[in-house]
Amino acid sequence: MSDERNRRGKLIVVSGFSGAGKGSLMKELLKNYPGQYALSVSVTTRAPRETEIDGISYHFKTQEEFDRLVEEGYFIEYAGYTGNCYGTPRPFVEENLDAGRNVILEIERAGAMIVREKYPDVKMIFITTENAEILEKRLRDRKTETEEKILKRLRTAVTECDYVKEYHAVIVNDVLEESVICLHNTIMEEENGRPSEEDLKRIDRIREELKIRLGIQD
Ligand code: 5GP
Repeated sequence: MSDERNRRGKLIVVSGFSGAGKGSLMKELLKNYPGQYALSVSVTTRAPRETEIDGISYHFKTQEEFDRLVEEGYFIEYAGYTGNCYGTPRPFVEENLDAGRNVILEIERAGAMIVREKYPDVKMIFITTENAEILEKRLRDRKTETEEKILKRLRTAVTECDYVKEYHAVIVNDVLEESVICLHNTIMEEENGRPSEEDLKRIDRIREELKIRLGIQD
């Protein structure tokens, strides 16, 4: 076998605030770079949204089924997020890495930290909007969540801000077509960098903006 065929694929974690547009970014990335990426389909106990398809968007399971998979060691990582469980299936990830494909895990920050422990070479990218106003607007405009869940997701975003410095890069998802190119280029960089000061300042700003919008006091 040639070196090319022996090479294991790259593992990439993509996290980001709910409403930052991770789903659209993933869709465009797969479309624009066919054959280069394999997107892991997670298992979740969350109820499907109207447009979601079982086995494509997620593998939708009951809590009992999820717990059984945990016991069987089926997940690379799993975590709770705003009241539901989410987990990354090990077989899909390992098979695709072995086949030399770049595997993307679109997962939240607690899972991302576990993946980093298990796969030290992982590249971790965080997706944000320009500011909190746009984030809240996108989350509301997609009309998939109740008011209570929207607020839960925004409160979770405040906590997520503290973890962004652990990532290798931040991408501001403003114009989708540009963000996709930026995401692909960042993945292709050999070295894992760190977020710029400008990016970290933006995240600090978003944290403060979110706190004001949510009426959270220190
Ligand atoms: P949503 O309910 O909006 O589809 O996802 C909620 C959050 O769960 C998002 O931050 C998403 O990235 C994350 N997520 C999706 N799948 C997984 C997974 O397998 N593991 C972890 N840890 N997080 C996940």
